[in-house]
Amino acid sequence: MEDFIKKLRKVIFNSKKLVAFTGAGVSSESGIPTYRGTGGLWNKYDPSKYASYNYFLEDPSYYWQFFRDVRYPLLKPAKPNAAHYVLVELEKRGILNQLITQNIDGLHQMAGQTNVCELHGNTRQIKCMDCKNKFTMDEIFQQIKKEVPPHCSCGGLLRPDVVLFGESLPQEALKAWHAAQTCDTFLVVGSSLLVYPAAQIPLIAKENNAVLVIINIDETPLDHKADLVIQKSASGVLSGIIREAKS
Ligand code: NAD
Ligand code: ZN
Repeated sequence: MEDFIKKLRKVIFNSKKLVAFTGAGVSSESGIPTYRGTGGLWNKYDPSKYASYNYFLEDPSYYWQFFRDVRYPLLKPAKPNAAHYVLVELEKRGILNQLITQNIDGLHQMAGQTNVCELHGNTRQIKCMDCKNKFTMDEIFQQIKKEVPPHCSCGGLLRPDVVLFGESLPQEALKAWHAAQTCDTFLVVGSSLLVYPAAQIPLIAKENNAVLVIINIDETPLDHKADLVIQKSASGVLSGIIREAKS
């Protein structure tokens, strides 16, 4: 058994209250590109336009073209990968207490995770800015094939049910802060830890004496605070701990 797997297993299986915090790196092996890091989407498209609330109000068609031509075709066929399934397995075994995600792709839920706190919403859901009616991305895709931006039958502009830059986090985020304050082990998987306020959450766990583990292919600015840093692929590392647990 590789040394880092041994260490990780010990930390995870000895924890009394484990919290996992995931980012785009967990979904990269499902074919959804990350924003930053190798192969990141932002090397190609301009986030100051498609991910900004102010820009969305100024020109909503930019976001919707990006959704139609890039986001939807990536999201539609995407399936959870081994990393998502190991986190489900840890929840089923009563080890993982809370999963916090920055991802907006819904793959944790698709894998069967039930205790998910979505910090940045879910891009599969669309809502009307006026009457607040909700729609699925499939329903809206039919409309945006013909025209962008799409509108509700009430005439209101439709927007993704996600947190854009310039917007505050949803009420649900309070759960994440509470989980970080009360856990004894905090496991970061596949996040650059560059997006605030989300990246503050692992720090809160550390300040409350939790063991901090970071699994991410690239370095993160919080590596020096972590008790264990594993610079490898999320699916490889996480399947390692379950495989070893079964044998
Ligand atoms: P990020 O793109 O900033 O960082 C992802 C990190 O994952 C990078 O540091 C990269 O090195 C690492 N990585 C890539 N593949 C990996 C793998 N197989 N195993 C382990 N690590 C891997 O992502 P973030 O930190 O989640 O950034 C936050 C913002 O990006 C959030 O606001 C989130 O909503 C958004 N985002 C979400 C998705 C998604 O829902 N799948 C995709 C892109 C961006
Ligand atoms: Zn409406």
